[in-house]
Amino acid sequence: MARYAILIDHDYCTGCHTCEVACQQEHSYPVGTNGVTVREYEYEANGRVKIDYLPFFTEHCDFCTARLARQEQPACVKHCQARCMEFGLSNDLGETMKERPRAALFTHVPHR
Ligand code: SF4
Ligand code: SF4
Repeated sequence: MARYAILIDHDYCTGCHTCEVACQQEHSYPVGTNGVTVREYEYEANGRVKIDYLPFFTEHCDFCTARLARQEQPACVKHCQARCMEFGLSNDLGETMKERPRAALFTHVPHR
């Protein structure tokens, strides 16, 4: 069975939260419920304050099953402002991670 995934390249996430809004609108989720939520991690490196933004997928993420059935990308991926999210087969995306030092894969097996 094909295992789908969303790759997130943390080096390019700007923390714009558009993915959260896109997910809420797609599913008509109430305020406070999201399939993806963007967390912030603030730290110091080389004497400077840095912030990393970490999109985190929750139990409310259904991988946009209805959109996939229409051959459309998940709403969060389509609307990501920084194009730091990619949707595809986990094996294919995993291959591309060799050249991405700070990427993560969120995997999903569709329900039968
Ligand atoms: S894949 Fe769809 S359901 Fe999951 S977080 Fe993205 S928009 Fe929400
Ligand atoms: S839309 Fe893209 S750039 Fe914006 S917070 Fe979400 S993952 Fe990061």
